Amino acid sequence: MSERTYLDHNATAPVRPEASHALLEALGAAGNGSSIHGEGRSARARIEAARTEVGALVGVDPRGVIFTSCGTEADALALTPDYQRGSEQIRCDVLLTSAVEHAGVLRGHRFPADRVEILPVDPRGRLDVDALHEALARHAGEGRRALVSLMLANNETGVIQPVADVARRAHLHGAMVHTDAVQAAGRIAIDAKALGVDLLSMSAHKIGGAPGAGALVAVEPDLRPAPIFAGGAQERGRRAGSENVPAIVAFGAAAAAARRDLAVDVERIAVLRDRLETALRCEFPELVLLVGDVDRLPNTSCLALPGVTAETFVIALDLAGVAVSAGAACSSGKVGPSHVLAAMGVPERIARSAIRLSFGWSSGEEDVDRALGAFRRVLPGLMRRARAA
Ligand code: PLP
Repeated sequence: MSERTYLDHNATAPVRPEASHALLEALGAAGNGSSIHGEGRSARARIEAARTEVGALVGVDPRGVIFTSCGTEADALALTPDYQRGSEQIRCDVLLTSAVEHAGVLRGHRFPADRVEILPVDPRGRLDVDALHEALARHAGEGRRALVSLMLANNETGVIQPVADVARRAHLHGAMVHTDAVQAAGRIAIDAKALGVDLLSMSAHKIGGAPGAGALVAVEPDLRPAPIFAGGAQERGRRAGSENVPAIVAFGAAAAAARRDLAVDVERIAVLRDRLETALRCEFPELVLLVGDVDRLPNTSCLALPGVTAETFVIALDLAGVAVSAGAACSSGKVGPSHVLAAMGVPERIARSAIRLSFGWSSGEEDVDRALGAFRRVLPGLMRRARAA
């Protein structure tokens, strides 16, 4: 297995050594963060240290960080019609989101289906900002406040959305703004205040933390989404349930490591990804690079070999020692054509053959070499199939 190449960081990144060390140490310590004895206070101190690191990764006050169990829960916490700021009740009447969001966001989470409006993207996968503008003006004109949820970067294509521009326009219409930064956090520099969003979601296992922790960040710490569950007063009453201390501590360690390495890694990983893309395009002109000429994450590549299904492509690469995924592999086993590529207008024949390669903190030059070797071994056979199809 040591010779394998893992190019599926967007599904789950390998756990960073710093996070693994912190996780094991926390697993060995007793204590519930709500208990007042020494062990409880020590668990509380670990949680608060992690909160500071997670907040720092996106440039916010740690008091705004609400720990959850994963990115999906962070999105679900954000996507509610009901908010409170101090004694003010804020009611959002409608959710405006894009056609390329993660599954839970697309379904609106806690918004009723008839109050979710899905906006189109252009052929490069970026939100149609004019359509958003029209929707914001229409709802504001009819006295409805909107919550806008626009992902910072897409999980399948890596395309970066114009979140700062959208936040500015949305606020002019009195709307609130959430961004799902699950794929962007730790991969590009994020300053949530400069982005101008009210809320931002993150997930530990995408940045090299352990699975089991996520965070919804409220840029203004006193902005409170209605809790999902009734229960204890954990997370200042914003998310009931005993905290998953080991996963939270590992999340903090991963966030600290990601922040420390960010400036170098953005460039380093882009060089790896670009070297692979350039070589593949040069050697195999039949491969279609689905997303290129657009602002995108430095780690993600979305390719297709028309005529060969994504599953066949993924299995062939897997047998050759390279782990990649077919479109969105968050819910593994999913095979249907990607809603993201469909929204971009990619023809179904091409979309059905799209695979995603995603690099990350553990990737190196040897991964590019091995991936190229694997493509050289499997592509001639796959291309013969494609021509025969
Ligand atoms: N949002 C995006 C953009 C994602 O890519 C994912 C998972 O891949 C999620 C949310 C959900 O995160 P989690 O797996 O932590 O629930």
